[in-house]
Amino acid sequence: MTAHRRSIIDACLAMNASGLNQGTSGNVSLRTDDGFLITPSGIAYDAMSEDQIVPVAMDGSHEGPFLPSSEWRMHRDIYAGHADAGAVVHLHSPHATALSCLRRDIPPFHYMIAVAGGTTLRCASYATFGTQALSEAMLSALENRKACLLANHGMICFERTLDKALWLAGEGETLCRQYILACQAGTPVILSNSEMADVLDRFATYGRQPARES
Ligand code: 13P
Ligand code: ZN
Repeated sequence: MTAHRRSIIDACLAMNASGLNQGTSGNVSLRTDDGFLITPSGIAYDAMSEDQIVPVAMDGSHEGPFLPSSEWRMHRDIYAGHADAGAVVHLHSPHATALSCLRRDIPPFHYMIAVAGGTTLRCASYATFGTQALSEAMLSALENRKACLLANHGMICFERTLDKALWLAGEGETLCRQYILACQAGTPVILSNSEMADVLDRFATYGRQPARES
């Protein structure tokens, strides 16, 4: 369990170091046997210690003296609704957050949009941070997806492992930066449904090395 707590803090520090997050923005969690471990609310990552990571049960009850992230509902609802979610990362990275303020889905301007699980990086409709309404908006945007923008707020994503969730968070931010650059340079040509179907087919096996398990 201590190793799990440490890996959450390491993921947070990695987000700070790579510019994906700063201050107390964002939160990270890891699924456990009976719920999940999540970052505490309102504590800066660089001041966070292992004892401050909060165990939360699926009914929302938590243990220990520290309050869980105000966004524990989004994390809980991802674990409840997506059996393949082992870790969740929420972030306010600059480019994803900038685009989330436009309240638009990001179209397939680049084939890597498929990392989100489909042909778009959707933007969930707006709701106040920390509310069940925000979690419900997020769940609709995450239908057949592993990542989405949250209107006027940021991005959230999940993966089977924390390393992969962190990777996906970085990919999402990079895509948003590239989309902003492409829009500044002109009007990006959007990939067709059939071009994206080919990409999604290839993604089903991309990166699988016979010598490794996945
Ligand atoms: P917490 O500090 O409560 O995790 O809140 C940060 C955040 O990003 C709220 O959306
Ligand atoms: Zn947030």
